[in-house]
Amino acid sequence: MKKAKINKIINFSNVDGPGNRMSIFFQGCNYNCLYCHNPETINLCNSCGVCVTSCPVGALSLAGSKICWESKICIDCGRCTELCVLDSTPKTMDYSVGELLEEIKKVRGFIRGITVSGGEATLNYEFITELFIEVKKLGLTTFVDTNGSLDLQKDIYSEFVEVTDKFMVDMKVWDEKTHNGLVGSGNLLVRKNVEFLGDLGKLHEVRTVVVPGLLDNIETVDEVSRLIGEINSKNKIDGDIIYKLIKYRQIGVRKEILDKELNGIKTPADQLMEELSEIARGNGVEKVVII
Ligand code: SF4
Ligand code: SF4
Repeated sequence: MKKAKINKIINFSNVDGPGNRMSIFFQGCNYNCLYCHNPETINLCNSCGVCVTSCPVGALSLAGSKICWESKICIDCGRCTELCVLDSTPKTMDYSVGELLEEIKKVRGFIRGITVSGGEATLNYEFITELFIEVKKLGLTTFVDTNGSLDLQKDIYSEFVEVTDKFMVDMKVWDEKTHNGLVGSGNLLVRKNVEFLGDLGKLHEVRTVVVPGLLDNIETVDEVSRLIGEINSKNKIDGDIIYKLIKYRQIGVRKEILDKELNGIKTPADQLMEELSEIARGNGVEKVVII
């Protein structure tokens, strides 16, 4: 039975889509953003064993060539992930669709739906398709939080798109070259996905992290909100798509990056966030959320 590597499960989240939701974070990402606040989700652990002796409570061990993590005795001190040079963690669990469904059923009465996130959840699109087919039978809604890097218009993703109620897509920066420098690939596909999902009525939210001093936030918010505004007016669903402007925060960001590329970069002031919000509203986005 196929299993997926899960970094963590939050039973009740109110920031990952509408209502109370279970959020499932998949391990592994195809981006490597400078300001990633959970960099330990980027790579899959290669069981090198380097972190085993760092654990103060003996929750880590090597069984042959495989790392083992005992969640019941882990005190969540974070030492193992801090020292992993691979941007990974030994603290993942392998779940089959059936095992995840058992977890979902435990909280089913208290949640409106499931959101999959990461890492980059869509790298597990086949697994998620299978999961969402079952989740919908439970009467729950299905949301995907994504960096928009897969070409969702391709036939191989059609069932995945079909079974997903709504997507939340990151638009990190508008300028193609800057995007390439930031994450290691361009953003034309991300823009294409925003239009495609918007036209399908499956775009719940677009997100941009505001990082003054590193990115041209004004250009990005102006262009992205224009795009959302166009989708809104074309589909006559004015105000339906949320544009979430997220303040960059240092918490969780890799120390070596804070000391180098992001040295001196601070959380943006409320005034800048308000100015950006005004730009977005002026371009036809009614629902602008600042967090
Ligand atoms: S986070 Fe858990 S597994 Fe990792 S070092 Fe700390 S106690 Fe050990
Ligand atoms: S988490 Fe990192 S250091 Fe620990 S075993 Fe995996 S790859 Fe090695």
